Amino acid sequence: MARELCEVQGLIFKRKKYKEADVLTKIMTKDHGIFTIDVRGALRPKSRLGAATLNFSYGKYIVNTNWKGISTLRTFKDVKQLDQLYLDLTKNAYSSYVLDLLDHAFVEYKDIGSFYDLIMKALLKINSGEDAAIITQMVQLKLLNAYGVAPQLDRCLICGKVQGVFDYSMELGGIICSDHFNSVSQRMHLDPKVVALIRTLALVDIDRLGKIKINPQLKKDSGKVIDRMYVNYLDLNLKTKKFLDELALF
Ligand SMILES: [Zn+2]
Repeated sequence: MARELCEVQGLIFKRKKYKEADVLTKIMTKDHGIFTIDVRGALRPKSRLGAATLNFSYGKYIVNTNWKGISTLRTFKDVKQLDQLYLDLTKNAYSSYVLDLLDHAFVEYKDIGSFYDLIMKALLKINSGEDAAIITQMVQLKLLNAYGVAPQLDRCLICGKVQGVFDYSMELGGIICSDHFNSVSQRMHLDPKVVALIRTLALVDIDRLGKIKINPQLKKDSGKVIDRMYVNYLDLNLKTKKFLDELALF
């Protein structure tokens, strides 16, 4: 494919120095997936391109690209920054992990579909001070679909029942209703409230999240189960996750 100029809408994340004064950064775009751009001269003082590509900047970026490898940033329009994600260590840690998870789920330039809106909304919510831990758990659960390892959380694995008391089976990858607790040998014996929270986070739209009030212990317990899903089904070993876990100890 020939190189062409294209305007993409997206959000900048993961910056690193490149060549003498360039920066390589990733951009998550609405229509062209995630890819790497070279921001030439970004590290020079007063670089306009550099200022428009700080982490968590978003807007319209005009890139020179042939839709593979590294594209080059030409210019930009209407760029804003989710500044709390940049300035606040905890919000930064959650957001970096969310973007890292997304980044690992897709190859470069592959359309990320509705995950663009999900991640954008999640970042906007974290930026505005909503519960970052719960938003992150929701993103973790929904991204299991992108990784192709989504557990069955909408209905009982055995009978398909959608309402009632449920437990989760890590080995079988789904929920079991109380009528069938004795039909499976491997289940986690979780507090039904934890399973209910996980189901809610996996199944409801992120727009409805603001209305859900969650008790701190419950939130901790659901987080542990979701982390175990990631270890058991994917084992990604991300540095951003390790950092987040260390931060949670304080
Ligand atoms: Zn059942």
